[in-house]
Amino acid sequence: MTTDISSDKAIFERRESQVRSYCRSFDAVFARAKGSTLHDAKGNSYTDFLSGCSSLNYGHNDPDMKAALMAHIADDGIAHALDMYTGPKAEFLEAFERLVLAPRGMDHKIMMTGPTGANAVEAAIKLARKVTGRTNVIAFTNGFHGMTLGALSLTGNSGKRRGAGVPLNSVTHLPFEGSLGDDVDTLAMIEAMLENDSSGIDAPAAFILELVQGEGGLTAASRSWVEGVARLAKKHGAKLIVDDIQAGIGRAGDFFSFDDMDIEPDMITLAKSLSGFGLPFALTLIRPELDVWKPAEHNGTFRGNTHAFVTARIALEKFWADDAFKVEIAEKAAVLTGRLQRIADMIPGARLKGRGMMQGVDVGNGGLAGAICAEAFVRGVIIETSGADDEVVKVLAPLTTPMDQFKEGLDTLAEAARACVETRIAAE
Ligand SMILES: *Cc1c(COP(=O)(O)O)cnc(C)c1O
Repeated sequence: MTTDISSDKAIFERRESQVRSYCRSFDAVFARAKGSTLHDAKGNSYTDFLSGCSSLNYGHNDPDMKAALMAHIADDGIAHALDMYTGPKAEFLEAFERLVLAPRGMDHKIMMTGPTGANAVEAAIKLARKVTGRTNVIAFTNGFHGMTLGALSLTGNSGKRRGAGVPLNSVTHLPFEGSLGDDVDTLAMIEAMLENDSSGIDAPAAFILELVQGEGGLTAASRSWVEGVARLAKKHGAKLIVDDIQAGIGRAGDFFSFDDMDIEPDMITLAKSLSGFGLPFALTLIRPELDVWKPAEHNGTFRGNTHAFVTARIALEKFWADDAFKVEIAEKAAVLTGRLQRIADMIPGARLKGRGMMQGVDVGNGGLAGAICAEAFVRGVIIETSGADDEVVKVLAPLTTPMDQFKEGLDTLAEAARACVETRIAAE
């Protein structure tokens, strides 16, 4: 009996629930990771174009975050403090205020929620309902907001909704930009519905949306559409909630996905890359006048993760103290667009989706997109699909990926796409 437990997959199949998911696409046991490279237990290495679904925007094991965290632990720094005051929390709040809120003229309060994105979403809709006294929340087709009941009620995907086991109600789903075809003006349609006293849509407590739909197929809303939704929310007395859990923290090009738009969200949810290090950490930003919570009214054992405060503060200071990182993201995003266009050119009807460093190619069907991702993995690139039918090959590389490695990974992806297209032609 000398099987190496760390590389043997039998234990996962024997003991881990069927609910496991990403491991089904990537048949390896991972051992170490640095920057944009993962290593498996057999010594193979892979370029990471998944980044923990955008939880690792700064790559794996950033040396400065790691050093700060190790020093904190070595010094018997607090690991868990409920939401009591700690030095790392003070330093994180100060850095967030100085580097994120103040430069944007934002006076939002920071609400520490439970550590996952779904927790931040639950807090936001609960607060919107509490302050407005209304129940209905408007969410959009193809939106994804998490898997707990409240967040799931906002999520569009029927497969995910089916898992709920109870009716998911008190939400009205309206069409996202472009979801009814290019010639349907969904904003005008939504406006008409809200204006129509007999449309059956109850006065909304909130609108919640992703500016780039991370799981729902990488549709990026235009500036005018987003500003129009913000205007409608205001007009109808509803709170505007931007779910920036996936598109934020640099992914769509700047710290917030709405930074170049003229909107002032009432609430913003952040999670995924907020800690900078892949540690669970989420928060909901709320405009000060909405901060009507009674103490402990939205409680939770794991609100504010002290280790994450340490790494998140370093991430803010290292990457967001000036514009250099934003410029670097824009350069890589331009390379990404060019390379993805070459892939799209190989596939009739394929088109580019997304913006910034969350772009992909809609190849028309989930079978082909899945085959391309599987072929890329064989060639050493970890990448996943997005969309209602998993029809989009979605690149979510760490934003810090060195340009050479980024281009090599994109070359590999193009080779994988070419191989799949050739196989398909041969089969026809
Ligand atoms: C991932 C995600 C969530 C849910 O976050 P969890 O940490 O998985 O609960 C919510 N909204 C968006 C946009 C996401 O991408």
